[in-house]
Amino acid sequence: MKRYKLFINGEFAEGHSGKFLPVYDPSTESVIAEVPDGDESDVNRAVAAARAAFDSGPWSQSTAQERGRILFRLAERIRKETPQLAELESRNSGKPIVEAEYDLGDAATCFEYYAGMATKVVGHVNPVPDNALSLSLKEPVGVAGQIIPWNYPLLMAAWKLAPAIAAGATCVLKPAEQTPLTVLEFASYLNEAGLPPGVVNIITGLGETTGAPLVRHPDVNKIAFTGSAAVGKAIVKAAADTVKRVTLELGGKSPNIFFADADFEAAIDGALFGVFINQGEVCSAGSRILVEKSIYSKFVEAMAAKAKTIKLGAPLERETKMGPLVSKEQYDRVRSYIDVGKGEAKLASGGSTRPAAFTKGYYVEPTIFYDVDNSARISREEIFGPVATVIPFKDEADAIKIANDSPYGLAAAVWSRDIFRVFRAVKALRAGIVWVNHMQPTYVEAPWGGFKQSGFGRELGPWGIEEYLETKQVHINLNEQPIGWY
Ligand code: NAP
Ligand code: MG
Repeated sequence: MKRYKLFINGEFAEGHSGKFLPVYDPSTESVIAEVPDGDESDVNRAVAAARAAFDSGPWSQSTAQERGRILFRLAERIRKETPQLAELESRNSGKPIVEAEYDLGDAATCFEYYAGMATKVVGHVNPVPDNALSLSLKEPVGVAGQIIPWNYPLLMAAWKLAPAIAAGATCVLKPAEQTPLTVLEFASYLNEAGLPPGVVNIITGLGETTGAPLVRHPDVNKIAFTGSAAVGKAIVKAAADTVKRVTLELGGKSPNIFFADADFEAAIDGALFGVFINQGEVCSAGSRILVEKSIYSKFVEAMAAKAKTIKLGAPLERETKMGPLVSKEQYDRVRSYIDVGKGEAKLASGGSTRPAAFTKGYYVEPTIFYDVDNSARISREEIFGPVATVIPFKDEADAIKIANDSPYGLAAAVWSRDIFRVFRAVKALRAGIVWVNHMQPTYVEAPWGGFKQSGFGRELGPWGIEEYLETKQVHINLNEQPIGWY
């Protein structure tokens, strides 16, 4: 069993407490590694390293070209190590190995994208009406604290680290306690890629003891967070004392809307893919499936029949389409929502946790509830597991009303062959991402983030690097004579 270390100032380091947290394989429930149980003094060391690297180290003098080359090397290394990294990701998170391989490809692509973008950050000349040169310059935000969840461990780290490095910021990243392993392996590539010490620091530990001190720290300029709404709200409050820049990606209860004229086969597949990919542990999961009344019964029936064919299995088996949930805590949480659902709705398929085929592991059958109201708890609260709610609607206006009746607004999807209706829906949906005749494809070139309580700020694309930049106004007076006011 491997015992990992923290990564601070370019070196692997012991945690201050000398204590460790166990890391599990959720398919066997056994401990596969240990990571330092970080505390405030570890956070302080990491922030000091990041601060020094930003303020005075070689990083502060780095050129965009140099940063781009480092990012390309990191991307290349991820591609080279993909077999080992994907296996570790799959083993630790429970996600099917094939999905883990996709995630790692996306992580490498994210580093490549921001490698290219490093040299495309440009300022402006502002057309002021005086004999002056007015410039707006882009500068890195400083030290960024980055706190990530367990559903896409190395990919979420890539979304945070790559734009920050491209921008010239420095980072202290805290992975989720459940899934810290791939990011710690990734840390071992940083020096070889030419990243100066202190630019990226990785602190493992609990949210309370490492995440919270990072958010409070006066030398941290920005917090980028992905996770639950409850923690996101606490972060905004805690960050207010030092007026940190904050970006939040907090998940949702995203509607996946099916009109009767949609291609039926594609729709069934899209409904299942939208909600069950990655065991449903997806912030943009299409967990509210809205179906036009005229096809509702047929739709529920077809969905349930196909859901029963989804292959649950050990994460490392290539034919597995759904692995166990990430942890005992998440398993218990999802099980309790299934119990709630049984009191609020009818069950079309699934509903059983740890199906008979398994003696161990946090497996939950793909579960579909129907004849459920949008006001039910299972329609309003993010479950973050393989649990779908199928809600009927009467017409387009009804569909939009139900879809928007949620505190969240991360994503939505609409399925129809009527282009006019599609565009009306796209405009009416209050969500940061709207898919049409598809759900879930995500590209580094396109913006990612939510409306309403799904958060604020955008990751990926040019929006993603913008969140790690400050804008500085520079005014250069071109008049040789004095201003002449006094
Ligand atoms: P979470 O508690 O929000 O955790 C996300 C990250 O924040 C973790 O690294 C966590 O540390 C850290 N954290 C926790 N408390 C903190 C605090 N007070 N200050 C700073 N950082 C803190 O999410 P979770 O426990 O993993 O999952 C709970 C629920 O969150 C899920 O069921 C789901 O609904 C939602 N979720 C959403 C997303 C998303 O992508 N939007 C992702 C994951 C989970 P720890 O290591 O201690 O957890
Ligand atoms: Mg947690």
